[in-house]
Amino acid sequence: MVVLENIWERFLTLVRGEVGSQVVDSWLKSVSLAEINEKESKLLFYVPNQFVYSWIKNNYMYLFKEKFPQILGTQIFTFDFKVIAQTGTVSANEKEDESSAKYEATSLLYRSAKLQAKNSWQKNKNSENPKQKKDALNSKYLFENFVVGPHNYLAYSGAQAVAKGFAKRYNPLFIYGKTGLGKTHLLHCIGNEYKKNFSLNKIIYKNSITFIEEFIESVKGNKVQSFIDKYRKVDLLLIDDVQFLGQKEQTQEVFFNIFNRMYDEKKQIVLSSDVAPTNLHGFQERLISRLSWGLMADIGLPTLETKVAILLKKAEELSIELDQDTALYIAKNFTSNIREMEGALTKLSAMTMLTLNPISIDFAKKELVPTRLVETKQLIAPEAVLAAVLKNSGLSLDDLKSKKRHSEVVLARHMVVYLLKKYTKSSLRTIGSFVGGRTHSTVLYSVSKIKDQCLADPLFNSKMQNIESLLS
Ligand code: ADP
Ligand code: MG
Repeated sequence: MVVLENIWERFLTLVRGEVGSQVVDSWLKSVSLAEINEKESKLLFYVPNQFVYSWIKNNYMYLFKEKFPQILGTQIFTFDFKVIAQTGTVSANEKEDESSAKYEATSLLYRSAKLQAKNSWQKNKNSENPKQKKDALNSKYLFENFVVGPHNYLAYSGAQAVAKGFAKRYNPLFIYGKTGLGKTHLLHCIGNEYKKNFSLNKIIYKNSITFIEEFIESVKGNKVQSFIDKYRKVDLLLIDDVQFLGQKEQTQEVFFNIFNRMYDEKKQIVLSSDVAPTNLHGFQERLISRLSWGLMADIGLPTLETKVAILLKKAEELSIELDQDTALYIAKNFTSNIREMEGALTKLSAMTMLTLNPISIDFAKKELVPTRLVETKQLIAPEAVLAAVLKNSGLSLDDLKSKKRHSEVVLARHMVVYLLKKYTKSSLRTIGSFVGGRTHSTVLYSVSKIKDQCLADPLFNSKMQNIESLLS
């Protein structure tokens, strides 16, 4: 089918740009995309033989996991492969036997491929699955693809100075602004650039939610000292979304100590938050004052020109053809959130591939219906919310309440929390208890995660709407 072929071609183009033509020609050209199952977020591929399948599975799955969500604008949970051999069809899940005769014939190819894959792995090891490791530096977020405009100029300049090591007086650098305006992107830029400039120095990037969780774990396991020691050797500490430390007295205490020591030793600290230090809720005064010692840089709303520039840059990254007029149309319609605007572009790109229409203003007008946001709080039983999400995800209540951290379980927990917050009058504490005793800030984090994903990902948004329609 033309549509599937188109999508596959887009994948090959993106992959070629990243790992080179040799990998594409040797391994991926003989594969085809056979089916898209949107409902179950599943893709099916045909591979010519078991060997190619094993090779792809062992070496290149990260490309599939990274590129297909980008191309289709939705999360993909399952990638199935079917061996369509000339002599018939064999399931790709059958047991592999590396020593069998069929591999011997290809051993030469295997050896050269191994070398090739090793090289490409070395090239890519830093970017491998960046999105899965929430607290690793994402090598995609670089100064090169960060568009500078009047709204973020101060933050950008501070970030540059810190990354070059010039900025002892910008300590801490405190970047604040509303959601979806580039704070996380900028923190990663600093980390990546600093890593290039000072390869021997130690960097930690962490979302404050993880910081809190790890601290709690260390208390439970009697390992607070080793938690603190981890930060002893750090030269650059990047803490994202510091607002979640609000009301976390014990964690704040530890953070305060880490902060002071780093500050005294002239180690660099960079923080991001959704509000300025003085507007942080549930923070000790002395910590607020300390957070304000360095450079405070806010990121405001981008101008129209900057938004157009960002769209054109994103389109280039995704190999999407986008003309100025359409970019201007999209930019005008998304005023307050760059993530949301980027989601619109991804949606358009997915729709062009499915309908084979080029991206144009008319097409954008037709496809970009404003996201429906339900503000009214209806009275819905929490059990109905649980039932709807469990039904949709195929998980059990035990999974949901467990400590499991598989992406499916984590996502389902986020969904339950989001829906309970939206449709019930339960307190944050009660909501947390529905998913295994999660804390107040974890609950708020889940809500913002789902909100963001609904805005950024139209297919996910429609999945959520389906679940919401199950609630009565
Ligand atoms: P925040 O952390 O402030 O909520 P993010 O850093 O996650 O926002 O940004 C949301 C999206 O917008 C990301 O995909 C990011 O790459 C993009 N973005 C934001 N600002 C810029 C910019 N100035 N240039 C390029 N992309 C940007
Ligand atoms: Mg962020």
